[in-house]
Amino acid sequence: MQIIADLHTHTLCASHAFHTLLEMAAAAGAMGYRALAMTDHAPAMPDAPHAWHFGNFSALPRAIGPVAMLYGAEVNVMDTKGGLDLPDSLLRGMDWVVASIHSPCVPGLLTEREATRLWLGVAENPYVDCIGHSEQQHYKYDYDLVTKAFAKNNKVVEINGNSFFVRRDGVPNMRALLRACRENGCRIALDSDAHSIRQMQENMAALIALIEEENFPQELVVNASAAALVAELRRHGRACAEEIGGILL
Ligand SMILES: [Zn+2]
Ligand SMILES: [Zn+2]
Repeated sequence: MQIIADLHTHTLCASHAFHTLLEMAAAAGAMGYRALAMTDHAPAMPDAPHAWHFGNFSALPRAIGPVAMLYGAEVNVMDTKGGLDLPDSLLRGMDWVVASIHSPCVPGLLTEREATRLWLGVAENPYVDCIGHSEQQHYKYDYDLVTKAFAKNNKVVEINGNSFFVRRDGVPNMRALLRACRENGCRIALDSDAHSIRQMQENMAALIALIEEENFPQELVVNASAAALVAELRRHGRACAEEIGGILL
């Protein structure tokens, strides 16, 4: 299994990440990646960049060196209806939106029923591309039911390399989540969720080992080939798809 893009990374735009966009892109290029998504924390998260960050991506280049760039956000799910902390008017124009549960932003721990309802709500949002680190133990959901909805609505389920370090109690859930994805034809991404270059370089290996152990089919991994990534952007109706395709294909 080869990975050609990292679709969930952070930059110095939040001070608990440590490298600039140019440094991250250069490191991604040195790793042989063809594409990189910058997905900084949306404003409800402490230490997130100001909302203006997310409205000014037109200032940035489509490629940095050999690396095609996707600009987006890691938005916060704010309630059990799947409400998010950035408006559709901003999400619509982004290249890649990851939606995640972060404990500072949701009202307490959730029952399985509440977490299931939350993700079914997110599945209906046309501007969410990817579901971030959803294996978390405190927010377990009905993997079978919800991955069917994710597959139907073209939501990519992320398997997150940072979870091995910062959300360890949910790591055993990754296998059950992967099995539900495979069963229901739900596509996945392997993401570092790097807050530093070191994490971008080191967080992917355990994910590749995990999906190889699970015999997870490569055709369901959207960042395993340039063609799969471009096809996914097209499926999501992302305006960047043709430009990114022109660079990658
Ligand atoms: Zn996160
Ligand atoms: Zn993140």
